Amino acid sequence: VFDMLIVGGGPAGASAAIYAARKGISTGVVSERFGGQVLDTMGIENFISVKETEGPKLVAALEQHVKSYDVDIMNLQRAAELVPGDVIEVKLESGASLKAKTVILATGARWREMNVPGEKEYKNKGVAYCPHCDGPLFKGKRVAVIGGGNSGVEAAIDLAGIVAHVTLIEFDVKLRADAVLQRKLMSLPNVTVITQALTSEVHGDGTRVNGLQYTDRQTGASHRIDLEGIFVQIGLLPNTDWLKGTVALSKHGEIEIDAHGRTSVPGVFAAGDATTVPFKQIVIAMGEGSKAALSAFDHLIRTSAP
Ligand code: FAD
Repeated sequence: VFDMLIVGGGPAGASAAIYAARKGISTGVVSERFGGQVLDTMGIENFISVKETEGPKLVAALEQHVKSYDVDIMNLQRAAELVPGDVIEVKLESGASLKAKTVILATGARWREMNVPGEKEYKNKGVAYCPHCDGPLFKGKRVAVIGGGNSGVEAAIDLAGIVAHVTLIEFDVKLRADAVLQRKLMSLPNVTVITQALTSEVHGDGTRVNGLQYTDRQTGASHRIDLEGIFVQIGLLPNTDWLKGTVALSKHGEIEIDAHGRTSVPGVFAAGDATTVPFKQIVIAMGEGSKAALSAFDHLIRTSAP
């Protein structure tokens, strides 16, 4: 039985593991893919105190840091079920089962993709998902934002202050963002909004994005926009399907946590992109992971027999 079992090996899970191990308690990390989303990231310029790094480099450093402590890392294992109790059980897809006095859920999230030709090919080469991360890379360039919900419109407003021009593309007849955001968006001189548009292809020169193709859903006509960047903002999907019915989730599927990282299940804590924490970023996930581990440790010393 672990004192603390962490599910997920991204920045949130790795930070939780280090904070747990430093308390001298038995700690395990089970993850499908150690490193999480950071493995898929090229340039990182907002990991505070490190001016510039790359995802795989940061993951290697994270792994080395975790491994310098007595932490049982179980990689390439997917959790399938959480069974609450005095001793909490995490059942794995492999059929194995792990037991722990406290559990930290840090299974992260993934961006919903458009699934159109060129999107995968030009990921990190003009196709981006995070305006806070990659916005400055498009300074003075032309970009599109796909999606007219709150995150799409927020991204367009944010980017309009950095790039030369933003085209916001919405599938529906109208934007779904809050009215106050829409008013702000419409007041900006370098933003064009196109509704009833279905993005059909990402164009590029083999190295970088140079255009976007969309279909006007009203007329059926296909149009091309010349640009250098495309920010896809059609949803962030938390990896929490396996928790449905066990842990309270928000309407977006995020694990509901309080200020201490506690979930609705006693002894189960959560951190990072899988949770309701606002803003999904590496430094935030790390802070949240540390916080959840300290909260779980506090729970342990209050509930465990001496
Ligand atoms: P994740 O990194 O998603 O890690 C989740 C972990 O849980 C993984 O190990 C995964 O394998 C595991 N897991 C999932 N489901 C299960 C399961 N059922 N069982 C076991 N394990 C499971 N942020 C920045 O701050 N700066 C950037 O420049 C930046 N650029 C980005 C670029 C891209 C392309 C992407 C996709 C994201 C970027 N982000 C950036 C966001 C950042 O990567 C995330 O906010 C951060 O990784 C979240 O950490 P996390 O630990 O919560 O989740």
